[in-house]
Amino acid sequence: MKILFASAEIYPYAKTGGLADVAQALPRELNKDIEVTSIMPLYCSIDRDKFKIYSLNKSLAIPLGDFTYNINLYQGFNKGVKTLFVYEASLCDREYLYGDVRGDYRDNYMRFGLFSKAIVYIAKEFKMDILHLNDWHTALGALWAKELYPQLATISTIHNLAFQGLFPRSSMTSLGLNSKYYDQEAIEFWGNINFLKAAIAYSDIVTTVSPRYAEEIQEPAFGFGLDGFLRYHREKLHGILNGIDTMLFNPTIDPALPAPYSSYSLESKGLNKIAFYKERGLENSENPLFIFIGRFTKQKGLDVIIDGLPLLLEMPLNIAILGEGESSMADSLMALSHKYSNLSILFGYDESISHRKYAAADFLLMPSSFEPCGLNQLISLRYGTLPIVHRVGGLYDSVADIEDGDDSICGKGIALKSLDRNGLIEAVQRALSLYHNQSSQFINIKRENMSCDVSFKKSAERYMECYREISKN
Ligand code: ADP
Repeated sequence: MKILFASAEIYPYAKTGGLADVAQALPRELNKDIEVTSIMPLYCSIDRDKFKIYSLNKSLAIPLGDFTYNINLYQGFNKGVKTLFVYEASLCDREYLYGDVRGDYRDNYMRFGLFSKAIVYIAKEFKMDILHLNDWHTALGALWAKELYPQLATISTIHNLAFQGLFPRSSMTSLGLNSKYYDQEAIEFWGNINFLKAAIAYSDIVTTVSPRYAEEIQEPAFGFGLDGFLRYHREKLHGILNGIDTMLFNPTIDPALPAPYSSYSLESKGLNKIAFYKERGLENSENPLFIFIGRFTKQKGLDVIIDGLPLLLEMPLNIAILGEGESSMADSLMALSHKYSNLSILFGYDESISHRKYAAADFLLMPSSFEPCGLNQLISLRYGTLPIVHRVGGLYDSVADIEDGDDSICGKGIALKSLDRNGLIEAVQRALSLYHNQSSQFINIKRENMSCDVSFKKSAERYMECYREISKN
C-alpha cells in the first residue's frame, strides 16, 4: 500500500498550528508499517539548504481552467519520511502561508486549487494507492481523484471545520470545474463554493481528529453550516484522536529546556519555572504558573480568560500568555499587563519559548469554546502540567476531571463547569487548592499524566484500518 499524505503545512518546514504537527507526526508513525510519502508546497520561506531539499528535475503540466501550470518537484526527508515539495511561483512565493495583515490572499482558491489538482497528478505519476487529504487546502483533490484517476482511493481528515475554503461561484471557471458541481449535494454552499464539501462528498472515508468532535459537528451548534451534510455522509465519518510526537515533546531530552526532567525528577521541573520567572521578570516564585499558548480567538476561549483576568490576577499566582491573533484581544492583554506585574504577555510565534513554558508551568488554561482535538493539553500531560479545560471535542476525549473517577481517560485535569468568567475562576480556585494541598495528590496526578500514552501509535492503527478498508473497496 502506497500512501500520499498531502498537507498545506508540515512541521518543521512550515507551521501555523496543530495541522503541521500532525502532518509530521502521523506519517512518521505510519511509516513504520507502510510506505508513506508526504507532500506540501515549497513556500519561499522554507530554507532548502537547511532542510536538505533538492530538485528531482521533474516537472508536470497541470491544467487548471484556461491555463496550464508547470510545477516543479523537490524532495527531502522529514525524520525518515520521504517528503515531496511542489513548487510553482504563484503558490509558493508569498511572505506568509495563507494571508497577511490585510486578510487572506485573494487568490487562495487558485493557489490551493492548483495544489489539490497537482497532488492527484503526482499520485498517478508515482502510482500511489491512497491519497490522504487534510483540510480545505487539499479538499478538491477528492473531486479530481474521482474525475481523473478513479482507482485512487481517498481519505480526508478535517482538522478544524471552522475553516472550509469558501469562494465565489465565479471561481469555478478559473478552476475549470464543471458547472454540475454547483449543486447542494456537491460543492455549492449558500451561493458560494465550499472546498471542504468536496472532501466530504467525494472521499471514500472522512475522518476528524477526535471521536467527540465527530459527533459534535453533526449538530448545528458545532457544524458551521455543514452539520446536515455531515449527517448525510455519517456512514463514512470517523473520529480518531490525535497524538503528538513524543520524541519532539519529551521533557527528559528537550533541548529547549534549561533543566530537562522526568516524572521521577519532578523537582527539576521547578528549576524550569525559576528560570522562566527570571527570564520574564515574574516575582513570587512560590506562586504557581498558569499559561496560555495559542491563537488569540474565541475558539481558544481567550475572551473568557480576558474577562476573568482582573479577578484572577488578584490571586496568588502568575499568568503567562504566548500567541498572536485578533488585535482587540491583544490590546486588552497589553492594557492588563501594564497594570498587573503577575501577568506576562509575549506576542508572536516561538517554538522554543512554548516548550520552556510547558515545562515551567503548573497549569495550562484551555477554555476552548470548540476544539477539534487540541494538542496543547496533550503536550501539557507529557510535561506534567495540569490542563484546565472546557470539555468539548478532543478535550472531552483526552482530559477527565480529577474528581470524576473516570478511568477510561488517562489524562487528568480540571474541567470548567461553565464556559464563562465564573466557571474559569472556580476552576482556578480548585487548581490553587490542589497546588497548596500538603498531601502528594498533585505530584501523583502529574506523574500519572506524564505516563499517559499521548503518542500517535493508537491513532495510526485506526488510520491503517481506514486505509485497508478503502483499498479493499
Ligand atoms: P490550532 O487549533 O491552533 O491548530 P492545536 O492545539 O491543534 O491548535 O495546536 C497548536 C500547536 O501550535 C501546539 O503545538 C502549540 O504548542 C503550538 N502553538 C500555538 N501557538 C503558538 C505560539 N504562539 N508559539 C509557539 N507555539 C504555538
